[in-house]
Amino acid sequence: MLRHEPERTVTTRYLSLPLSDTKVEKHFVTLYPVGAISPGSSGLRLREIIYDGRYKTMKLDARREKLLRRTFLDYQSSAEFLRHPLILDRADGLYYWDSEGKRYFDAIGGIFVATLGHRHPRLVAALERQMAKMTFAPPLHGIADVALDFVEKIGTVTPGNLKYVKPFSGGSEAVESAIKFVRQYFKQAGHPGKYKFISRYLGYHGGTAGAMSASGTGARKTKFEPQMPGFLKVFPPTYYRDRFESWQECNRFCARMVEDVIVNEDPETVAGFIVEPIGNTGGVITPTEEYFQILREICTRYNVMLIYDEIITGIGKTGSMFAAQTFGVTPDLICCGKGLSSGMMPIGAMIAREDLADAFWGNAEDDVHFAHGHTFAGNPMACAVGIAVVDEIVENKLAEKAREMGEYLAGRLQELTKYGVVREVRGKGILRGVELVKNTQAMEPFPELGKAMKRTALENGLIMRIDPTWFAVAPALIASKPEIDEMCSLIERSLQQALEAVVSRKGAAA
Ligand code: PLP
Repeated sequence: MLRHEPERTVTTRYLSLPLSDTKVEKHFVTLYPVGAISPGSSGLRLREIIYDGRYKTMKLDARREKLLRRTFLDYQSSAEFLRHPLILDRADGLYYWDSEGKRYFDAIGGIFVATLGHRHPRLVAALERQMAKMTFAPPLHGIADVALDFVEKIGTVTPGNLKYVKPFSGGSEAVESAIKFVRQYFKQAGHPGKYKFISRYLGYHGGTAGAMSASGTGARKTKFEPQMPGFLKVFPPTYYRDRFESWQECNRFCARMVEDVIVNEDPETVAGFIVEPIGNTGGVITPTEEYFQILREICTRYNVMLIYDEIITGIGKTGSMFAAQTFGVTPDLICCGKGLSSGMMPIGAMIAREDLADAFWGNAEDDVHFAHGHTFAGNPMACAVGIAVVDEIVENKLAEKAREMGEYLAGRLQELTKYGVVREVRGKGILRGVELVKNTQAMEPFPELGKAMKRTALENGLIMRIDPTWFAVAPALIASKPEIDEMCSLIERSLQQALEAVVSRKGAAA
């Protein structure tokens, strides 16, 4: 099907397009020129870019292709991955190299993990030292001495009285453990009916059954219905932002709504509220400090545990060791993982108020203990690396550096607004996100641009998170200003090329 558009030329802030013979075929994207207030009034339909052939991708040999068919990628189409594979071979500092030798700037620490960059020498040394002593201790009938060092170390950097630490092998385990810990706590603390958890739509808390039930990731979960019972959802502030005069007011509304839910559920049934301080899925949702203050008051009033999922926000990224400190509001529990080992070992930790753990002490004959465990939890290698990560951050004031560098990074990302497709730059410290829109009046999401950017970024040797109506970066805390500049240049080039691809007549004629 071919169609000729009525409008002949369109000038957006980023491109001037003669459209006299634009061909529109099977797939469409709708692009509204900047200045068009209402979608539909002067919308232009342009053909969606067919990426094959336009972008250089890695070539797969027969063996790798066969092996890729024997495994699956996380949360993505393996068929699509086969068309645009990324097979990584090595990493160092802020860079990855693929198996063809191409270098990539790692703008997201792998996936919010490589806090100190890849293969940091201090971590390698810590690992080697531990490897020479002991690589495994059995959590069922013993504990590694270095695991106790880890518990002690984490307790030196947590806010408030969050000193109870249970180490795990990943974020989902930490969240799962928090759910069980809180439920068991209330059973033993005179409130046996408290079992429900409230969390937020658009939130992600992990892939295991409980953590998935707490997640608000919609259709991603439908395949596994029914979810675990006892998980309720509220909306994050971004969901309602256009209905309020100010962002502050919207945050107040969304935080206060949590009280309405608790009251209407019966507070004696509600155990916890689980929230990512900065919500990655959903687009680096960054609430006000007051949002957390209100949540804190509500949770305290109704004896509901406030649980921060800091698996992304933790370990220095937001300008403090934990976002709890950045926002100035202390929860009852923190779950962390990812950056705690800078990617050197699988790691996670559930951290709780020390006094909550008191409910788990009793005589052996009363069978009072935390009824939970994992074989690889508290692994000595992981604990040794975790200690070294914390030491490196504290000794070199890397969280403070992230705060300063984050301001610079935010300024550089703000420059992208000149393209007319950026709604907002959000985040704290070096954890930043950019929301993409078709124009800055109607604020209509621009997923086509994000999808194109996924390709242009890889082609430019840039690894970051693109979802596709927003993208996020979180470079290692050690990134210098020139490295941030290098990253931002790659981002800008990838954005420009994606814009050209999505809007280009070349695409229509391809
Ligand atoms: N919570 C958040 C906010 C996450 O981003 C993730 C992982 O991406 C998890 C929990 C689960 O962590 P893991 O993948 O280590 O199990």
